Amino acid sequence: MATERTFSILKPDATERNLTGAINAVIEEAGLRIVAQRRIRMSDAQAKKFYEVHAERPFYGELVSFMTSGPVVVQVLEGENAVAKYRGVMGATNPAQADEGTIRKRFAKSVGENSVHGSDSAENAAIEIKQFFDDKDIVG
Ligand code: ATP
Ligand code: MG
Repeated sequence: MATERTFSILKPDATERNLTGAINAVIEEAGLRIVAQRRIRMSDAQAKKFYEVHAERPFYGELVSFMTSGPVVVQVLEGENAVAKYRGVMGATNPAQADEGTIRKRFAKSVGENSVHGSDSAENAAIEIKQFFDDKDIVG
């Protein structure tokens, strides 16, 4: 498996509790390199677009309002098999079902306020990275 990139978000429940450094330590210890990172406040339009695949789900409104409720840290992670590796490091969507040692098991508050996002495919990673970063701002 070649080196690839994935897109990550440290969500508002994480920034609110000053967990950026603790979560980044887990990411780096897993062998993923943070090659771009920016702290932003997501606009309503950005959050709606980002999660548009979930537009018909009952939790969509709650999800968009959560993602715009405070600062987030958007990141590009690079490494061997980065998409699948980061999904493993994150753990299951619902922290109650996440494996020991994963970010969501350690830090997430609930299925909604679950601390991190990670792309679910290399194709979606490329689309998500483009939504938040210019190529020149990614330093591999
Ligand atoms: P993410 O896309 O954020 O990395 P995921 O791929 O593990 O998470 P998805 O099914 O894509 O999970 O859901 C996107 C996000 O929507 C979840 O991370 C969570 O914040 C929220 N979410 C998912 N299911 C629920 C639910 N049942 N109730 C409330 N929020 C939910
Ligand atoms: Mg998802």
